[in-house]
Amino acid sequence: MPTQPLSPAQQIRRAGNLVNLSTPLGLLVAAAGRARRRPGPNGLTLAEGYRLRFPPAGAFTVGNVVICPRDFATLTARQPEVMDHEEVHAWQYFCCGGLPFLPLYLLASAWSWLRTGDVASGNVFERAAGLRRGGYIEAPASNAGLRAVARWAQTLTVKPSRLAERSR
Ligand SMILES: [Zn+2]
Repeated sequence: MPTQPLSPAQQIRRAGNLVNLSTPLGLLVAAAGRARRRPGPNGLTLAEGYRLRFPPAGAFTVGNVVICPRDFATLTARQPEVMDHEEVHAWQYFCCGGLPFLPLYLLASAWSWLRTGDVASGNVFERAAGLRRGGYIEAPASNAGLRAVARWAQTLTVKPSRLAERSR
């Protein structure tokens, strides 16, 4: 991949995500998953062949490091806009001041699950990065997760006998 000179914004993002420790964390995660690193487009680092099972994603970004269990050629053949999607996540780390992005992302995922039954469709960060570009199929806001929680709560509080039956 030919590396073009970085725009001032990309240089600021690269420096910012280094200083706010999100890129160092990304390099650590890539190393933990024994991924091979190489320079990517727009000041990003690509890490391929990630071997850990978590998170279960075709690609994910930590700071300026885009990590992928397989290789990017295969991934971009299937999802041509995936790097644009992941680059938005690199900006989101920058805008959140680095590591605070992670708990915020978890909260957004939980909210999405409650609203739609999946962790991406209602997640503000994934929506901003583009669901389709990230390979997600948008689920409607059906409150599927909320209803599941309500069912569990009902089982626990209103029908304790049913729970007792189940555990027998
Ligand atoms: Zn994403």
